[in-house]
Amino acid sequence: MRDWRIETRCLQEGWKPKSGEPRVLPIYQSTTYKYDSTEDVAKLFDLSAPGHMYSRISNPTVECLENKLASLEGGTGALCAASGQTATLITVLNLCRTGDHIVSASAIYGGTFNLLHHTLERLGISTSFIDADASEDEIQKAFRPNTRALFGETLANPKLSVLDIEKFARIARANNVPFVIDNTFATPILCRPLEYGADIIVHSATKYLDGHATSVSGVIIESGKFDWSNGNFPAFTAPDESYHGVVYTRDFPRTPFTTKARVQLMRDLGANMTAQTAFLVNLGVETLHLRMERHSANARQAAEYLAKHPKVLSVAYPGLPADKYYALAQKYLPLGASGIISFVIKGGREAAVRFMDSLRLAAIVVHVADARTSVLHPASSTHRQMNDAQLAQAGIEPGMIRLSIGLENIGDIIEDIQAALG
Ligand SMILES: *Cc1c(COP(=O)(O)O)cnc(C)c1O
Repeated sequence: MRDWRIETRCLQEGWKPKSGEPRVLPIYQSTTYKYDSTEDVAKLFDLSAPGHMYSRISNPTVECLENKLASLEGGTGALCAASGQTATLITVLNLCRTGDHIVSASAIYGGTFNLLHHTLERLGISTSFIDADASEDEIQKAFRPNTRALFGETLANPKLSVLDIEKFARIARANNVPFVIDNTFATPILCRPLEYGADIIVHSATKYLDGHATSVSGVIIESGKFDWSNGNFPAFTAPDESYHGVVYTRDFPRTPFTTKARVQLMRDLGANMTAQTAFLVNLGVETLHLRMERHSANARQAAEYLAKHPKVLSVAYPGLPADKYYALAQKYLPLGASGIISFVIKGGREAAVRFMDSLRLAAIVVHVADARTSVLHPASSTHRQMNDAQLAQAGIEPGMIRLSIGLENIGDIIEDIQAALG
């Protein structure tokens, strides 16, 4: 059977009820599973039979969401996690051990910067941050013999730069390391990085996948195409003694990355997604295609309005023809540039705070990608741990405001912005 189109898969993938079963994905609120024999459960512990043993490792509701998200991204497998941060942490720990090194774009989410630069650094996994717009030769200089991953964001939070995904994929391939990409802001509706050569995708499902600000959640998706036998990743090709000698590339050829992450790291760290959360994220994903279309259309109109306003110094929205990243957006985000705009208000930090406090519809929240319009001042919230030099490197100015344009009537959204700009 031919694959359904992506809009259909948003609704129909994952839960596929048999005759007489519930129409809607059930919440399997159970930590545990029942077996007919000790032999049945022994096979699960040897990873020689598929099935669920304990909800820290897998759960039927969560599995349906994993299958749906893998399908939407065009991957072979997925692993859901308690948050986007956990998805990135588990991805790094699945690739690196103490002494290893990562190369990352510098314009990334503040929480990911903290994870890489502070917490993982303390565990002995170091990161070199590079300008994603630099040439391949320049970026190549950051690689070392112990580099085990290249990391970037499709549409960076909050800089809104568009990553040249094919360039990053070439650099990763030349260095025999996987290219890990955070696709949170684009979602698989607007961009599917695996089609351009990325190897592993992480998402904060908290954002557009959920879409209604109900659930902190994350997911890892693998392409199934990376060559783990290139010598850099013996943990994928050598027997795992904690599972009677399982070899991930041999025994799970389609899903070596997410299987190893699940049965080693999710087993040991316990940062699993709950069935309740999977139910809510799945419900969100059912309308993802419609929402991303409207978020993008509304944001484009709001960005056009801001770009013409005399009190606005600059607008970053890659869907605007004047934007530095317009050409890359045309290539990688042809259906729309998502719902997030950042702009710099004249008058710096003080004017930014005055604007924020004057909005009536847009709400001040530490969140983006909600169905409701929201607004945030990165320099005093998500990125406040950065010093001025690090802020500049991440592309953030003190007067920068990040607007997450919702699904309300665009006339009301623009009137709110107009009134607050005064
Ligand atoms: C929010 C966010 C994260 C972190 O996700 P949580 O679900 O909040 O842990 C990671 N990357 C990006 C791009 C984000 O916007």
